[in-house]
Amino acid sequence: MGSGQVTDWQGKNVTVAGLGVSGIPAAKVLHGLGAKVTVVNDGDDARARAQAEELEALGVSVRLGDGATLPEGTELIVTAPGWKPDKPLFAAAHEAGVPVWGDVELAWRLRGPEAAPWLAVTGTNGKTTTVQMLASILDAAGLRTAAVGNIGVSLLDAVLGEEQYDVLAVELSSYQLHWAPSLRAHSAAVLNIAPDHLDWHGSMEAYARDKGRIYEGNRVACVYNVADKATEDLVREADVEEGCRAIGFTLGTPGPSQLGVVEGILVDRAFVENRQKNAQELAEVSDVNPPAPHNIANALAAAALARAYGVPPKAVRDGLRAFTPDAHRIAHVADLDGVAYVDDSKATNTHAAEASLAAYESIVWIAGGLAKGAVFEELVAKSAKRLRAAVLIGADRGLIREALARHAPEVPVVDLDRTDTGAMLAAVQEAKRLARPGDTVLLAPACASMDMFTNYNQRGDVFAEAVRELGAGA
Ligand code: ADP
Repeated sequence: MGSGQVTDWQGKNVTVAGLGVSGIPAAKVLHGLGAKVTVVNDGDDARARAQAEELEALGVSVRLGDGATLPEGTELIVTAPGWKPDKPLFAAAHEAGVPVWGDVELAWRLRGPEAAPWLAVTGTNGKTTTVQMLASILDAAGLRTAAVGNIGVSLLDAVLGEEQYDVLAVELSSYQLHWAPSLRAHSAAVLNIAPDHLDWHGSMEAYARDKGRIYEGNRVACVYNVADKATEDLVREADVEEGCRAIGFTLGTPGPSQLGVVEGILVDRAFVENRQKNAQELAEVSDVNPPAPHNIANALAAAALARAYGVPPKAVRDGLRAFTPDAHRIAHVADLDGVAYVDDSKATNTHAAEASLAAYESIVWIAGGLAKGAVFEELVAKSAKRLRAAVLIGADRGLIREALARHAPEVPVVDLDRTDTGAMLAAVQEAKRLARPGDTVLLAPACASMDMFTNYNQRGDVFAEAVRELGAGA
């Protein structure tokens, strides 16, 4: 299967690993191209059976309840990105010399010769937001584009659909990058690297290495976070095209070949004539919505990628102004009695919650849920001085309570010993009682939501509902 485009799929034996959001479309596309497709799946429940039936009706073979055995004659595996690299199927593939591609690799290989280049974004937090900002900027520049990945358009649709694009803004996870060996972006950004998904990657080094793949073969710019040295190290290690530049973004004053902030203005000292002397104004901090520090960093990363593609400064400003964040990402819900209520339910890990807490001066913090093995010491120690009080909910709230006791003993804590959905109303009532005018009541749980809610969306909705109820009763 080499490393280039595959033009003739007729009769190729392809095994698709995993039914699901990436497996089903991949199987359909490959079948449509003439490949002989077998889908293997570990699970064998009612849902899997229904999905299998649908695929079998099209002529795709499906093997349920056995994702470990390599089907006879397999020439290529296309895996769901979430499948762990240490699975027996991959050991068997390795032994048999069968290549393994993820969903991103497949899309990359199926692109036509005239296909739109990719501006790619990864990082532990901020991917979706940055990709959406980038698409908004490209759009403001009059380019045909889309935000592609977990949100918006799917990769396969972007590559194979009717719609013609000039350039794509692509969100990539560390799993996807692991399985995408030949991807070569026009330019790419790694926003930050904090411990996450380590059970999957095996170690922090392996996690960082997979993220670093996004820089491999970049043509114009490798964008890194000046405040996160690990991202810069990855640029140094990457093998890029001749002339490709390392471009930093910083919340401070930018040096040459960086984008940064000077007196409330986002400025570019990378894509300008004579960067030793000159700087180009791009936008005002207040053009970024919301203008929280981590979100300004996201805006700078998006701007760097857009500028690497040649977008003019005015489009950066217009694109940032036109951007509105997705729900549950530092969403301002209401002001009641001089207190702001903010929903950052999407802060599902400690790194995200830390960024969120850094955006406000005096906070009543609502936190807790499923910790996923996280440690809260650093988050609490760094945020302690901003905390008016904390209200804890959810299964693993005890871990946060202990960290607060150790690092912020003076901060009052309300520990709600409830995991039912109604506990959120109680939490918001407690927060209201504790808040003073000028404070922010911030839902930034630092935990996953599944102990009490269907997902982070529902958690945020229930919070907003509780705030409204409080407002109506006031
Ligand atoms: P992702 O797609 O990487 O999950 P999102 O853009 O959906 O990222 O943001 C998820 C959460 O991460 C936000 O709600 C916010 O709390 C936090 N966040 C966003 N950008 C950053 C950043 N640059 N650094 C740290 N945390 C961030």
